[in-house]
Amino acid sequence: MRLTADYHTHTLYSHGEGRIKDNIEAAIGQGLSEIAIADHGPKSQSIRRFGVKKAETLLEIKKKIDEYNEYYPEINILAAVEANIINLDGEIDVPVEVLKQLDKVLVGFHLFIRPGDWKSLWGIIVNNAIIGKLRFNNDKIRKMNTELMIKVMDNYEVDIITHPGYQVDIDTKVLATEAAKRNVALEINAKHGFLTEEFLKVAAQEGVKFSLGSDAHTPQQVGEVTPALELVQRLGIPPCSSYKCSIISK
Ligand SMILES: [Zn+2]
Ligand SMILES: [Zn+2]
Repeated sequence: MRLTADYHTHTLYSHGEGRIKDNIEAAIGQGLSEIAIADHGPKSQSIRRFGVKKAETLLEIKKKIDEYNEYYPEINILAAVEANIINLDGEIDVPVEVLKQLDKVLVGFHLFIRPGDWKSLWGIIVNNAIIGKLRFNNDKIRKMNTELMIKVMDNYEVDIITHPGYQVDIDTKVLATEAAKRNVALEINAKHGFLTEEFLKVAAQEGVKFSLGSDAHTPQQVGEVTPALELVQRLGIPPCSSYKCSIISK
């Protein structure tokens, strides 16, 4: 079993250190047949900005990708995004008109974001980053996170949920059931070490698809998913390589 595609890579357009071209060449070097450029949505925030400047920047990236697809016929390059959930209505930081033009939509919980409003700041960030960590209201917060992710899947055509369980607590079984119903894949993220073995076992029982992602922030990390791949093999999760589902194949 080996990785054939990496749908989770970042570039200088957001938090990554390489150019689009560098990630593509790294992917070719790794023998991948497909790579997605999935930079962080515009509401990602740290001391220095780390999302794309604005949602429309994703279309600029896509334009470049179209050119690179001509230039590198040996690999299929996809334009994607790793979008942020910005409020309790389950909205993300990229409008539908832009999403429609992308090849893949990844969504993940991140706590370093500029939320849509104060209620969401409290609901998503304070609850997960502070209250939950102090072990208060854990069940309530878990339920809120899970329901919020389901709302996002209902609001948008999501392809992959990135690093479920990272930074926020989520009900694996419910999430996996709902994701499977909507043909959304859960990511096994090589960088953050999620999903865990326990999470994977519970999720796999619900028949959900998995997507292995490097979450590369440098070109050297593109396609690097060895521990995640070993875990998948150890647990006997079947390979799958159709466009919408997982990215592992024989
Ligand atoms: Zn992420
Ligand atoms: Zn990422």
